[in-house]
Amino acid sequence: MTSILAALGYALAVQSAAATSSHHHAVDGATFDYVVVGGGTSGLVVANRLTENRRNTVLVIERGYFDDKPEAIIPWYSNAVDTSVLVSPRSAPNPKLNNSTHSVTVAAVVGGATVVNGMGCDRGSKADYDAWEELGNHGWGWNGMLPYFKKSTNFTPPSPDVVDRWNITWNPSVYGKGPVQLHISNFQYPDIDTIWGGFRQQPGVRFPPGSSSGFGPGAYWSANTIDARDMTRSTARSAYYDPVNKTRSNLRLVIGQTATKLIFDRGKTLRAKGVRIISGLDGKARNVYARREVILAAGAVMTPHLLQVSGIGPASVLKAAGIKVVKDLPSVGANFQDHATVVLWFNLSTPSFPNPDSMSNNAAYNATVWEEYFNNRTGPVAAANSNSIIYYSLSQVLSPSAAVSIASRLLAQDARQYLPAIYSTNSALLRGFKAQRAILAQRFKTNTSSYTAQPLRGNGQSPSPLLKPLSRGSVTLNLTHPESLPVVQYNTFMNPIDEELAVAVVRRSRRYWASPALQKLGPTERQPGAEYQTDSQILDYLKANPFALFASLAHPSGTCAMMPEKLGGCVASDLRVYGVEGLSVVDASVIPLISGTSLQATVYAIAEKAADIIKARG
Ligand SMILES: Cc1cc2nc3c(=O)[nH]c(=O)nc-3n(C[C@H](O)[C@H](O)[C@H](O)COP(=O)(O)OP(=O)(O)OC[C@H]3O[C@@H](n4cnc5c(N)ncnc54)[C@H](O)[C@@H]3O)c2cc1C
Repeated sequence: MTSILAALGYALAVQSAAATSSHHHAVDGATFDYVVVGGGTSGLVVANRLTENRRNTVLVIERGYFDDKPEAIIPWYSNAVDTSVLVSPRSAPNPKLNNSTHSVTVAAVVGGATVVNGMGCDRGSKADYDAWEELGNHGWGWNGMLPYFKKSTNFTPPSPDVVDRWNITWNPSVYGKGPVQLHISNFQYPDIDTIWGGFRQQPGVRFPPGSSSGFGPGAYWSANTIDARDMTRSTARSAYYDPVNKTRSNLRLVIGQTATKLIFDRGKTLRAKGVRIISGLDGKARNVYARREVILAAGAVMTPHLLQVSGIGPASVLKAAGIKVVKDLPSVGANFQDHATVVLWFNLSTPSFPNPDSMSNNAAYNATVWEEYFNNRTGPVAAANSNSIIYYSLSQVLSPSAAVSIASRLLAQDARQYLPAIYSTNSALLRGFKAQRAILAQRFKTNTSSYTAQPLRGNGQSPSPLLKPLSRGSVTLNLTHPESLPVVQYNTFMNPIDEELAVAVVRRSRRYWASPALQKLGPTERQPGAEYQTDSQILDYLKANPFALFASLAHPSGTCAMMPEKLGGCVASDLRVYGVEGLSVVDASVIPLISGTSLQATVYAIAEKAADIIKARG
């Protein structure tokens, strides 16, 4: 089998190199209407939509290359991250996690994170997006986002017999005829019945149809980014670039090119007029120019870095790094949020066959299912990580009264005590956090949004992301080498309520695994292990074990937040950077308050909406 894959990989890698060479036309000194930095998720959406108008010329600058390896195409590979298309800086030491450092997963490939992600594609709850509107972003609530959730997606259900067999539900009215292909695979492991038996035994759990309707807490059949026509990964590249690449002469993508600095016009007003890029191929620096706008889509780690290295960011940091301040904007790199994730593991003594571990521990089965994929595009290789997920509100993690008490304790905190130092010197950032905190406290008391989730595959792995973090991290340039990768500080557990709730999430996960239905699988807790019982035992274990507590679920966001300037925002609700003309941000950086699920559906919708907003400016 390995040889079939290797052969396929080799053939496709050659094809990729050929594609690469056709993207090296010189762009030195050229002017386009729009220059988009980052040919990832959001960048390719915006580039596609802007070039629907043949009069608009768009240049996309992408530091990575095309990836046509099987890892980028075959759904099964979503079970592990292909690190060959990542740049992975180590994070700064995480003070509350024994100063441990963590790998920061940043995609560097055409299509961005959608080429390497886990392929889960859920939307947060209505209340999650309404929070954005409550923070002053008119038009960005659920009702403002839904048309773009629809516009970006197309859902293909499994076959009718599979739907009947597993009672699979979805809500067709929340999808459109968009380019991102969503699907629930026909292949499900037999123990998924037991997983759902467990879902049904959780008190108060609801079973709304489909995880993309904004309902929030509940047990769902959740779709993956799979193209059901050939059972391959649907990515920003396959959805938004490949279909138009040959027919739109007004769309130009250059690969292996890193944007290193924004170029400004500093007349009466400050205006972004271009980008300096360095080629990964010949090492040369070139300038490109934008008649209308420079659009940043480099992701929530690299966008704030590019802004800072260009002189837009907190003045004190820029000065310390020897960067000339173009615009003092303390919000750049602040408000960093991700979903830290608690991971429990259970040994299962009586799993059914096949199960998610069968491919790795049964060579004959492994060979058969790869053959099956290549012959029929069916079986576990055609399926991604998980389609069964349960979301819990905070009151379902704790109890309604305990959730109310957490909300009041949160509001009673001196916020500055648990935030990075910059919040103490910048009153707008502090006001913005307090506005977020008031919303979170309200959400904690209701069942309108999720505090955690368990996506389950049918083996003993039980991850639970903390979907409403109170701690805030940062992305800052490296003071001694500003042009090198930025310093990411997760600040996991900086707020002690996050710690407390992580312990509660461990207990929530244990209750699920202790439910009668699950006993059919014979679960025994391996991580943390039954001997960890008191709060402090559990917490110490989490802090000391990076495999039990991921500081990140690769959901960086919020580092150039869309919020009013008086609340410490970085872009306005029209996505323009405050104080700079001709400069917009359209990626996960603009998310003001992280939504309660994985991010790709949200980023696709943000970028679709961004394209309409930018088009409307004319
Ligand atoms: C490993 C992993 C697993 C994930 N799993 C899931 C999941 O299962 N479900 C889900 O919904 N979400 C998941 N996510 C998150 C989701 O995919 C991302 O939040 C989303 O795709 C981010 O989109 P973006 O446009 O902000 O950034 P990206 O898609 O990362 O795009 C940024 C692009 O900019 C390019 N770039 C950066 N800097 C420069 C520069 N200076 N010059 C030129 N180009 C540059 C990068 O190479 C990249 O292509 C995962 C992410 C990762 C990394």
